Amino acid sequence: MNTPAKTSDQSRMNAHSVMFITKRPDVVMIEGKGSWLTDQSGKRYLDFLQGWAVNCLGHSNPGMVAALTAQAQKLINPSPAFYNEPMIRLADLLTSNSCFHKVFFANSGAEANEGAIKLARKWGQLHKHGAYEIITFDHSFHGRTLATMSASGKPGWDTLFAPQVPGFPKADLNDLDSVKKLISPKTVAIMVEPIQGEGGVIPCTGEFLRSLRELTRDENILLIVDEVQAGFGRTGELFAHQLYGIKPDIMTLGKGIGGGVPLAALLATEAVSCFVAGDQGGTYNGNALMTAVGINVIEQLLAPGFLQDVKEKGLFFRTELLKLSDEFHLQGERGEGLLRALILDREIGSKLVDMARDHGPDGLLINSPRPNLLRFMPALNVSKDEIQLMCSILRELLKKVA
Ligand SMILES: *Cc1c(COP(=O)(O)O)cnc(C)c1O
Repeated sequence: MNTPAKTSDQSRMNAHSVMFITKRPDVVMIEGKGSWLTDQSGKRYLDFLQGWAVNCLGHSNPGMVAALTAQAQKLINPSPAFYNEPMIRLADLLTSNSCFHKVFFANSGAEANEGAIKLARKWGQLHKHGAYEIITFDHSFHGRTLATMSASGKPGWDTLFAPQVPGFPKADLNDLDSVKKLISPKTVAIMVEPIQGEGGVIPCTGEFLRSLRELTRDENILLIVDEVQAGFGRTGELFAHQLYGIKPDIMTLGKGIGGGVPLAALLATEAVSCFVAGDQGGTYNGNALMTAVGINVIEQLLAPGFLQDVKEKGLFFRTELLKLSDEFHLQGERGEGLLRALILDREIGSKLVDMARDHGPDGLLINSPRPNLLRFMPALNVSKDEIQLMCSILRELLKKVA
């Protein structure tokens, strides 16, 4: 890269009009290719964040770029009042590869979850005498709108921006009794992440998720899976609930479905799809430009061997992380496929994140959703060499802090 180096002062100066919402490091990202990002000074970073599990095919994937540019030249947005070709094709690809029959496209995971909440409440009005409560879980994450923040079990979010949207009692993950205690005639659904992502990569046990399916069927309430993070090939299955062999009533997708562009979806079975005209919509929803990219992404994921490869690399990654855990007497690792966490022995997660980014000559991008663990969400087409390189940089850092 021959971009001239700029002083950090210049990048700070350029950012003063950007509203503060979080502490950001003093770098400006300029370009990305595959598993690598480059900043304004020409420094490269091995990216095991990938826009928060978003760029499932890495940065600027050529197939996606081709789909995006071809569609941009043909038709960008005919308005949500009309069908468009990519919208219809992507909906068909999603239903023919899942247990669902209907798809509503959205622009973010939170918006897809808002749609799921509305659909469940509507179904409750029609079939359950106005039942509206949706049981969710402690430490869950469903988005940043008021309703999805209320549905989330993030500590502190119950009072931030109070009052909350009512109707989201919280149970404990992997504790069926805690769910049963909350069921009442007001209950319309249970919403769960098959693997809690922001909560720290905590999978539902198979027994728990299968019991939730039985319980919801017996009680005639809906099972909603939020697969915004764990879905779309991340676990090595196209959808995370397929690992568990269950069929939910509603599923939400985001992040990986667009491979980096704003695209999300709400999927539901025929029996549950009860919106009537005027209930749901949105200016950009199902626009041709984003759904055309979505088609390319799912076609690449469904190519022979792709998901099998994700599973194999997940196992390889697991082995490498366990080696690190042994070497440095850490607490092991967990996750599925290429959504994994290394559990540390101390609360040094954010320190390691900073050290990894500042590491030279190449930096490393990782994340620490809890102080005692590191989370990894590489591109699904990451190479074994890149996984090994990630682990060797991490090894250096762990030696330094030992
Ligand atoms: C990221 C995430 C969301 C929110 O998605 P946005 O696109 O940021 O609105 C919802 N649920 C889960 C499980 C997520 O990981």
